[in-house]
Amino acid sequence: MSSPRLFAIGLAAAACLAAAGCALFAPFEATRPLGPCGFDVATLQFAGDALAQARCLLRPVAPGGALSPAPAALPDTLAALIGQPVGDLKPQLRRYLAAQRIADAGVGGSLDAPLSRARDDDPGSPAARYFVLHDTSVPWLGDAASFPPDDDPSVNDLGRFAGAQAVAHMFVDRRGQTLQGHDFGVPWRATQLETRRIGVASRGLFLHIEFAQPRRRDPAGSPHNDLVAPLPGFTDAQYARMALLYAAASARRGDWLIPAFHAALDEGIAGAHDDPQHFEIARFADALARLRVTLAR
Ligand SMILES: [Zn+2]
Repeated sequence: MSSPRLFAIGLAAAACLAAAGCALFAPFEATRPLGPCGFDVATLQFAGDALAQARCLLRPVAPGGALSPAPAALPDTLAALIGQPVGDLKPQLRRYLAAQRIADAGVGGSLDAPLSRARDDDPGSPAARYFVLHDTSVPWLGDAASFPPDDDPSVNDLGRFAGAQAVAHMFVDRRGQTLQGHDFGVPWRATQLETRRIGVASRGLFLHIEFAQPRRRDPAGSPHNDLVAPLPGFTDAQYARMALLYAAASARRGDWLIPAFHAALDEGIAGAHDDPQHFEIARFADALARLRVTLAR
């Protein structure tokens, strides 16, 4: 969620106002592919097949939001799934959720309900295709010498995100507990790419998941920067719930969604966010593999 470069918005806006034909604030006229991963507004996809899209959208994010230029190296267990049919995942999940007493709201809604569709739930438009991973970047701990333990109430207060205007579909605290902002069936936008570049056509195409992650100030940076994230960035419980949410959303779609980092969607846009920080794709893949073994028993 973090936006350490907000000052750039003002600079870009000033430059934009001074320039004829500025594309930055003309989201509805975009016809060329948008951004480094080449989003096509006509087909509502990034460039390449599902796996190529994931490799672009999951490039490591450095502090401050700079993305690695090389495509992400994806674990085989994850690469084998992305874009592929889910098989009998839905009945497996249904049994698992019942046995674990996990309510629909804990996985973004009922497995029997459709996902949102692009173009603000237009029936003829594709169902949500992208599973967007965020970190909350709060609480901000300023110049604190260290981060609190992962079970500390201060880093697990999801109530602050609740409400009709919740910024994401789902929130996951450091213990793996959840708050539903919106059902995965609700078209909702949460990135600069969607709101400022693509426009309303994107509403419903992306599912947004926020993972609690505190931040601290980098003493070498500006007075209110939040460049320092904990290492490791996320807990085992967060990766486990991430895998479950990914499986639940994919079961509703019928094929495995394309995971994406918020920072990759916004790359190159003024005000781009820097999250998620210290994401470990191997731990996500391992959590997903473990979940699938459990589901298949
Ligand atoms: Zn974000």
